[in-house]
Amino acid sequence: MRTVNLPSGTPVPALGQGTWHMGDDPARRAQELDALRAGVDLGMTLIDTAEMYGSGAAEELVGEAVRGRRDEVFLVSKVLPSNADRRGTVESCRASLRRLGTDRIDLYLLHWRGGVPLPETVEALEGLVRAGDIRFWGVSNLDTDDLADLPEGAVPATDQVLYNLSRRGAEFELLPRCRELSVPLMAYSPVEQGRLLDHPALRRVADAHGATPAQVALAWVLRHDDVIAIPKASSRSHVEENRAAADLRLTEEDLAALDEAFPPPSRKRPLDIL
Ligand code: NDP
Repeated sequence: MRTVNLPSGTPVPALGQGTWHMGDDPARRAQELDALRAGVDLGMTLIDTAEMYGSGAAEELVGEAVRGRRDEVFLVSKVLPSNADRRGTVESCRASLRRLGTDRIDLYLLHWRGGVPLPETVEALEGLVRAGDIRFWGVSNLDTDDLADLPEGAVPATDQVLYNLSRRGAEFELLPRCRELSVPLMAYSPVEQGRLLDHPALRRVADAHGATPAQVALAWVLRHDDVIAIPKASSRSHVEENRAAADLRLTEEDLAALDEAFPPPSRKRPLDIL
C-alpha cells in the first residue's frame, strides 16, 4: 500500500477506512467487524472514527475489530467541538481510549470548529501528546482562514475535509495551503456516500479500465500523492474493491474527461461540509 507522510515524517496508508454509521445496527455488527478486519489484512490500516459516531458505538466497534492487533493499525478519532475546551478535550480523549480499548490514539482531530477558541483546543491536544494519550493531533473541516487562526507554529498532522469529484472546492486554496505546510489532506466521503456512483462520465472511465465507478472515484482522490482517502465500506466485497482502487492509475485522458464532467473550482468558495 502506498503511504503518505504526516508532517512528522510518519508514513500512513494513503487508503484507510471510515466508520460513520458503523455500530448503529446490531444486525450488521458481524459483517462490519469482518469488513474492518479484512481492510486491515489488505493494508488499509488507518481507521477513522469519532466520539460522535453512534455516540461512541463506532469506537467500540473499532476497538473490537482491532483487539489483539492494535499495533498493526493507525487509529484516528475526533473530539466534538462542544467538548473541545481545556478539560473536555482530555475527558473526551480518555473516554475514546476506553471505548477503543487502547492506551493511545494515533491521531486525534478537532471534528470541526466550534465556540472554543482554537488555541485552547490546541493547547489541550498538545497536552495529550505530552501525556502519551495521543501521538499526533490534527483538525477537520477547517478552511484556509481557520488554519490561519491556529496558534503560531502549531501544525496539524492533517486537515480532514470533504473532498471528492463532486466536491472539489478544496483544490482552489486549501490544498495548496496545506501543501505549503506539508500537511496532507484526508478526504472524507470520497465516494460522496454513494451518490456519485451512477454518474455516466464516471461509468465510462470505469468501463474503460474494467473497474467500478467507486474505484475510479477513489483513484481520482488518490491521484494526489499527499491526499489520504477514508471510504467507509461495511462489506468485505466493497473493502476488497476499494483496496484495488489504490493500484488503479488514471490516464491524462481519464482526468480530462472527469474534469469536463466535474469541473475544478474557478474561484474560492466556503469549504463544503457534511
Ligand atoms: P463514503 O463516501 O465513504 O461512502 C460510504 C458509502 O459508500 C456507504 O454507503 C458504502 O456502502 C458505499 N461504498 C463504499 N465502498 C463502495 C464500493 N466499492 N462500491 C459501492 N459502494 C461503496 O462516505 P462517508 O460519509 O462514510 O465518508 C467516509 C468516512 O469519512 C466516514 O465513514 C467517516 O469516518 C469520515 N467522515 C468524516 C467527516 C468529518 O466531518 N470529519 C464527515 C463525514 C465522514 P457499504 O457501507 O454498504 O459498504
